[in-house]
Amino acid sequence: MVADGLGVNSTALLIQLQRIGLRPDLILFADTGSEKHETYGYLQTRREWLRAAGFPDLIVVRRRGVRVPDRSLEDQCLRTGTLPSLAYGRKSCSLKWKVAPQNKFCNHWEPALKCWRYGRKVIKVIGYDAGPSDGRRVKAFRDPKYLFWYPLREFGLDRAACTDLIRSEGLPVPAKSACFFCPATKKPELLQLQIRHPALVRRAIAIEQRAKPNLRSVKGLGRNFAWIDWLNERDGRAPDSALTAQQSFAASIQN
Ligand code: SF4
Repeated sequence: MVADGLGVNSTALLIQLQRIGLRPDLILFADTGSEKHETYGYLQTRREWLRAAGFPDLIVVRRRGVRVPDRSLEDQCLRTGTLPSLAYGRKSCSLKWKVAPQNKFCNHWEPALKCWRYGRKVIKVIGYDAGPSDGRRVKAFRDPKYLFWYPLREFGLDRAACTDLIRSEGLPVPAKSACFFCPATKKPELLQLQIRHPALVRRAIAIEQRAKPNLRSVKGLGRNFAWIDWLNERDGRAPDSALTAQQSFAASIQN
């Protein structure tokens, strides 16, 4: 099964699998409900390519809370007054909203059940590239149900090579896939988001403002800085003015 993030690496991964003649049995995209517009826009491109490649269609899975009504990671952050866990150096946001819905699907997927009945493991294919930062994300532990495989690393494809591969396939290069308020967002990416999707930035700042009274170890979505302060300072406005915060929150509700 392929864990598809709809970004550059996943796109290159699928192309590479096709070029080496491997057809996945299952391709899952875990939707946090808080992806960027470009990522949702790429769904159609992905599906058309998969059809042309003779690959199975993409299946979109999403976390459904039983006891809480959150329909997205954004909902959860606003309800609990917290930032996504990555801001605190933890990974439960992606474990809960990405890994768990995929595993839940597999727990009811007959080929996986059959595989496990025979004492085998499902091969989970992930698009970590051959660059050093993805190298740190590679899982070293043994999982009782899954074997993790990282073909891009095996073929020595770093991020630039992935982009080249996508272009060579005649496909548009997708945007970096992540929640629009992801604490891993770099400052130039935040600026891009501000230019292209100011309404999303206002919603991200609303999360930050809602969490602010509870923050002890971090200052905001940038961890050692709040997005609102950094953007205001760039614009020459007083950092974190109450008025701006209120405006941001009001705008987020309207949007
Ligand atoms: S993209 Fe960022 S915020 Fe969203 S689940 Fe992953 S780590 Fe968390």
